[in-house]
Amino acid sequence: MKIITFLESSNNKIHPVSLEALVAAQKLKNESGGTVHAIIFNNDLSESLSKYDLDSVVSINDNHLSKYNPLYYLETINQVFDNLDADICIFGHTYQTRDWVPRLSAKLNIPFISDCLEFNFSDKLSLMRPIFQAKLIQKLSLTSSKAIISFQAGSYSLDDMQQGNATVENINVDLSNVATTVTPGEKFQESAGGVDLTSADYIVSVGRGIGKEENIPLAQNLADKINAQIGSSRPVVDAGWLDHSRQIGSSGQTVSPKLYFAIGISGAIQHLVGMKGSKNIIAINKDSNAPIFEIADYAVIGDVLEILPKLTDNL
Ligand code: FAD
Repeated sequence: MKIITFLESSNNKIHPVSLEALVAAQKLKNESGGTVHAIIFNNDLSESLSKYDLDSVVSINDNHLSKYNPLYYLETINQVFDNLDADICIFGHTYQTRDWVPRLSAKLNIPFISDCLEFNFSDKLSLMRPIFQAKLIQKLSLTSSKAIISFQAGSYSLDDMQQGNATVENINVDLSNVATTVTPGEKFQESAGGVDLTSADYIVSVGRGIGKEENIPLAQNLADKINAQIGSSRPVVDAGWLDHSRQIGSSGQTVSPKLYFAIGISGAIQHLVGMKGSKNIIAINKDSNAPIFEIADYAVIGDVLEILPKLTDNL
């Protein structure tokens, strides 16, 4: 099985969800006895991938690819997929993936199984993905020999990345026939402060248990102290206490930080699906039976209004 995996990058940084997808690609390579090739559109970053266990790093440099444009991205991976005679193309399930990869699927005329949590490989490749607001997990077995797959943030851990010594190959693509019907504007930022919760290492997430809008600064102070981003559950956004860009969960963002503080969050499934990939979860809740404690690494039972100031002071 020949696997290619795309490493999305911006501001000279590889998107962490793409790197997690690379871990999935390495695992699939090992289980299927195949090869894995990392594709990147940034020369400066291609060397940083050579330290991983890959059959090659394919670096494509073209001015048209320096800014995100779905049509140029599409044509590039279309050519690479054909030239390498790849079977499987793996992506991290990022906003950009959602935008342009369905077009790639149509262009290559192969299925796109998106937002997967896990794969199984025996003689066939099967993929697990959440459906119905993550109430059910669907298992799909591939019947086609070629496919595109994207993995949700937090599905695979960077700790499992296999190290190696890959060669970097620079290749050119012919983008002269790409239509110029799409012109990229300024990149959308998650909020005025330019927050992208999906790549945050630390998140302090506020739930209804914070009580009222006037108490939000208690969480903000903690966030400032540890250089974390503020996240939230849905009721906090619905109440207008925080912007929707901060919402984590099935109708918000999916995050996988190193540390996630759940402050007065009960742990409803719609919230859990957005943060269960966090490496460490510290939950503060006055209800010792709150479902959040089932997935928390550290459980602090008590009143957030009392605990937050003391915690912040002591850090
Ligand atoms: P609650 O469930 O009300 O929990 C508050 C918690 O705070 C309780 O556990 C309580 O014990 C604790 N608490 C109260 N006071 C204190 C105190 N002083 N100190 C310590 N603890 C205290 N939710 C999301 O978060 N994200 C989503 O994307 C999302 N999408 C949804 C999509 C759909 C279609 C639907 C139907 C729902 C969605 N929800 C989403 C809502 C979800 O079902 C829950 O209602 C929501 O997650 C609950 O938020 P919460 O934990 O902040 O509030």
